[in-house]
Amino acid sequence: MKYISTRGDQSGKHFCEILLEGLAPDGGLYLPQAYPQVDGDTLSRWRAVYRDQGYAELAFEILSLYIDDIGAADLREICQKTYTAKVFGSDEIVPLRHLENGLWLEALSNGPTLAFKDMAMQLLGNLFEYELTRRGAQLNILGATSGDTGSAAEYAMRGKKGIRVFMTSPLGRMSPFQQAQMFSLMDENIHNIAIDGVFDDCQDLVKAVSNDLEFKRKYKIGTVNSINWARLLAQVVYYFAGYFQATESNTQKVSFTVPSGNFGNVCAGHVARMMGLPIARLVVATNENDVLDEFFRTGVYRVRASADTHETSSPSMDISKASNFERFVFDLLGRDGARVRSLFGDALARVGEFDLSAHPAFNQTTRRYGFESGKSMHSDRLATIKDTFERFGMMIDPHTADGVKVAREHQRPGLPMIVLETALPIKFAATMVEAFGREPERPARFKGIEALPKRVTRMAADVAAIKAYITEHCL
Ligand SMILES: *Cc1c(COP(=O)(O)O)cnc(C)c1O
Repeated sequence: MKYISTRGDQSGKHFCEILLEGLAPDGGLYLPQAYPQVDGDTLSRWRAVYRDQGYAELAFEILSLYIDDIGAADLREICQKTYTAKVFGSDEIVPLRHLENGLWLEALSNGPTLAFKDMAMQLLGNLFEYELTRRGAQLNILGATSGDTGSAAEYAMRGKKGIRVFMTSPLGRMSPFQQAQMFSLMDENIHNIAIDGVFDDCQDLVKAVSNDLEFKRKYKIGTVNSINWARLLAQVVYYFAGYFQATESNTQKVSFTVPSGNFGNVCAGHVARMMGLPIARLVVATNENDVLDEFFRTGVYRVRASADTHETSSPSMDISKASNFERFVFDLLGRDGARVRSLFGDALARVGEFDLSAHPAFNQTTRRYGFESGKSMHSDRLATIKDTFERFGMMIDPHTADGVKVAREHQRPGLPMIVLETALPIKFAATMVEAFGREPERPARFKGIEALPKRVTRMAADVAAIKAYITEHCL
């Protein structure tokens, strides 16, 4: 299995070559040359594997199709070490819960930081450590977070050999719980940097440092952002696990609704569907920041300026452009890298939008690729949280609530609809209080974390300052 770029570079790299890389050299994103096809026999076998041997073994089966430069025994060990009941809270790892009338929730948020990002990041931590050890190399991970990504990355990389993490976050902007999660980590290899500014300032700093190629090379700077192919691949596995739990035989189809921001999560669903998993619809749920919903409704992809990106009560979906969306467009346009380059490299940079409404491929988004979309607003979110609690005694977080709201609008009789749960409510306590007047339950291991000592360095949004800090503390 070789990987190519969405902007036309066909040179073809192996998995471990792109594992530690961000964008492809031509500015595109990596995708496999072709999606491995899963026939009915394989699907039946995997159903039994998940049932009898567990999630880690299912992950190994799926990853094996995409990774040919890690030996089978090693890859199996990496999967077994990653997906344990101890880390993810249950033997199923991603248990399904039934709400009503074929509407299901797939629990993806019982990992170390209580958001679905752990599903991929925990694997990434182990893959990074494996590959860096094999190369005798080191990596200083530089990132920017508004909440979930930073903590997931830090919990995945803490204590890992050959890895340091420098995570910037906007001072005072994360929820108290999220701050406590990150800043209470005392591991030597984790550095929290609170920036005087907003999330975009943090992201600009990361970009400025990464664009200094000499600095980047000299100090072995890397990233763990959502365009990393290994993260996406890890997420493909739980679409299969969700499908096996909701169905009894492979003749049945299911749909998924996915609360979306950067299009990473739902893009993994697209990959699973392209492999042959019987998915009827992939429903993209957005909040007030509806870049993606607008595209699937109109064919116009119009990125927003930072000033037009709303701060909402489902903050992890507050994005102005969906960094993984390019992968889907590449497939939609028949893998025409030149066209993708002109859309994403040129049109977006020049005028901030492109329009595919007149392109024959746009008709295919639903018919051929199964995509639909919908949008959920603050009042929808609150009403859905309240309703789900009152009728099912279940607390769902604001992002998952956006998913449930949109899923209901797209349900079809007789077709199971699985909503991916993207975080636990305790991460967003203020909105939960607003929805029904009290704090959500807190897993025992997080009791009192706000009172723990904090390890964080405050810094101005200044490129020179952050470079100096990295130079002093890097590997
Ligand atoms: C990251 C995140 C999302 C968005 O996921 P994408 O892969 O960026 O589409 C949604 N909800 C929560 C809670 C998240 O942390």
